[in-house]
Amino acid sequence: MTSQGGKVHDARELLSTRSDSIREGNKRKVIRAVMAQPATQVQIARRTELSQGTVSGVVQELEEQRVFRVDGGEGERGKRIRIGSVRGVAVGVEVGHDRLTVAVRRVDSEDMVHSVVNFGAAQGLDTWLRECVSMIKDLVAQTGLGDEHIVSIGLGIPAAIDPRNAEISQVASSQDWDLKGHPKEWFAHEFPRVPVIPDNECNFAAYGEHLYGLGRDVEVLLFVKSSAGIGAGLIIGDYIIRGRHGLAGEIGHLTMDPLGVVCRCGSRGCLETLVGGARLVEQVRLAYAGYRVDLPSSLENLIERAKTGDRVCRRIVEDAARNIGLALARVSNIVNPELIVVGGELGRAGDLVIGPATQTFQQNALEGMFSHPAPTTIKQSDLGMLAGVQGALGYALMVDFKPS
Ligand SMILES: [Zn+2]
Repeated sequence: MTSQGGKVHDARELLSTRSDSIREGNKRKVIRAVMAQPATQVQIARRTELSQGTVSGVVQELEEQRVFRVDGGEGERGKRIRIGSVRGVAVGVEVGHDRLTVAVRRVDSEDMVHSVVNFGAAQGLDTWLRECVSMIKDLVAQTGLGDEHIVSIGLGIPAAIDPRNAEISQVASSQDWDLKGHPKEWFAHEFPRVPVIPDNECNFAAYGEHLYGLGRDVEVLLFVKSSAGIGAGLIIGDYIIRGRHGLAGEIGHLTMDPLGVVCRCGSRGCLETLVGGARLVEQVRLAYAGYRVDLPSSLENLIERAKTGDRVCRRIVEDAARNIGLALARVSNIVNPELIVVGGELGRAGDLVIGPATQTFQQNALEGMFSHPAPTTIKQSDLGMLAGVQGALGYALMVDFKPS
């Protein structure tokens, strides 16, 4: 990595200049954009909202300092800018109901390492936080760097985060998981001076699709994560739409049937009461009520059975997909997305979910979305269960957190 006679820059130092000059600010923006993802100058200009001229000047200067390296490509505009002699590592964390995923990537590489454990918010803050710290340390060591090189930690949690102060405005479960205090400070003891960027885990998964998945170059992207619960993230341009209290995208609590069963949020007939993982597994039990059969143990297991032709499981998954399609049509009539990506466990069911969801969606959304030459489509996530950590990692790199 060290070039002859060249210096190896420290990523944290590069980004922590105290200068408030526009020039230094622009430089940080461009470095962050390239750390999040190698890009052409045109893409950097779009991502940073800087002029092509400004980007070109900054890129040239940073290339001379070997902060950037430039790949070959068709003409000046086709060349891809990458991080050069810079030491730094970025971290993404996704906390689910009973699943914890951590991903780590050096800023000068596209190779991400990750690990997953089967517990999360349901097991309590102290427990998952302790495990999370040790996972981060292990993965950072695997990249050949140390904790002192961590640039930022993106932290996706199952809660709504108030965009004004990064504090929790509502926890996803009415059982009130002990997600308390200030998420920005949860790692302060183990990783002092490392900025922690918290957000709702669905927002980060949507951002992951926007940066690295099917949502690249998509202007209005709707991402839906369907697992134990169901939530969504909306990205317009390069922005996560959070709303006033960080509650935007709570598609799981869209009322589908005002006379339906009571939901854990206290309302009645929410989408989640129809398609939440445990509700689907419960439907299989009801289907066989009074009969001794081997019931699916999890949503994943139920989907596997549906895929292999089990008629009961198949019908339950298809009906869930139709309900999701109807909810998506309602949301789409308001935000008119270009692309809808379905992730989470149901997203992995592929055509079994995408087919019926699309059919119901088209029956209920406004026709202009399909008669257009570039119709709104529903697709299965290609990042799978890693969309959340990738988005957390990428987004945290992009946030300009100058030292105070
Ligand atoms: Zn609800």
